[in-house]
Amino acid sequence: MYAVADAHVDALWRMVTAGGDLEPALASSPERLRQGGVALQVFALYASAGLPPHAQWDQVLEELDYYYAAFVAQAGVTPVVSAADLSAGAKTGLRGVLALEGAGCLAGQTWRLRTLHRLGVRGLGLTWNWANDLADGCLEARGAGLTSRGREVIREARRLGMWVDLAHLSEAGIRDVFRMLDGPVMASHANARSVHPHPRNLTDDVLREVFARGGFVGVTFEASFVTAERSPGPAALFRHIDHMLSLGGEDNVGFGSDFDGLSRPLPGLATAADYAAFARQIAARYGHALAEKLLIGNLMRFLRSALPSADLRDSSSP
Ligand SMILES: [Zn+2]
Repeated sequence: MYAVADAHVDALWRMVTAGGDLEPALASSPERLRQGGVALQVFALYASAGLPPHAQWDQVLEELDYYYAAFVAQAGVTPVVSAADLSAGAKTGLRGVLALEGAGCLAGQTWRLRTLHRLGVRGLGLTWNWANDLADGCLEARGAGLTSRGREVIREARRLGMWVDLAHLSEAGIRDVFRMLDGPVMASHANARSVHPHPRNLTDDVLREVFARGGFVGVTFEASFVTAERSPGPAALFRHIDHMLSLGGEDNVGFGSDFDGLSRPLPGLATAADYAAFARQIAARYGHALAEKLLIGNLMRFLRSALPSADLRDSSSP
């Protein structure tokens, strides 16, 4: 079986909204992740964007509790908080990394970001699809970029050693992030807009810039981000991968499935267990060496460069 690393699932949000204790029904349950050959999973902390900030904060903390209770303690997922955690120990086993998807829960307060960092959160996405106090999301009609609070939160995230995620952010917000930061950034779950014109997908200019910086883009399985076809086959997804490769993404492209957050999954890609067959299709199309990069190598390389080399606990002092 091929080993896989995936940059985005919503299992923790699914558990919270379903009242918890529904782990076997999850598309990205630990069992299904293992069946699919997933060796590393980035777990999103998504708070329902319509809730007020204090309710979002509660939801994120509840998701953190599910992560540590159900995934880490019960299912044996190994938490990753530093690059050292990616090289230490055996190559087998399922590892987890936490990333915030939409930072409205912070209410613009960097102490909340430091608190999440102390609890193991290493990725920061500023928005979901709409505006919050930090930036506009990609569906916000006015299309504004970062606010001054948004810049402050990004500066604190970088000081702590967290990576910035461009998924869901407005184009102006993405350009602001590029101007603020020199280093690699991630777009955890997004496809190519020139292949399928959806506002959640990334323009060629943005894709080229992410690749040139040594960043990472996770191709995602939400059918409405992939194609207008009614029952698409794997070829529809391959078109996005091929296009990103043609823009220079050989060392930067991987997958961010969005399992447990999909409203319309692609046929044959409904749960993490489907990665087992999908990985064989990727290998048949792209050959072993490139398939290994797409399936696991590129995300692992990004995380090794984006995560702090060791877990420096005193780095989160204000
Ligand atoms: Zn999302």
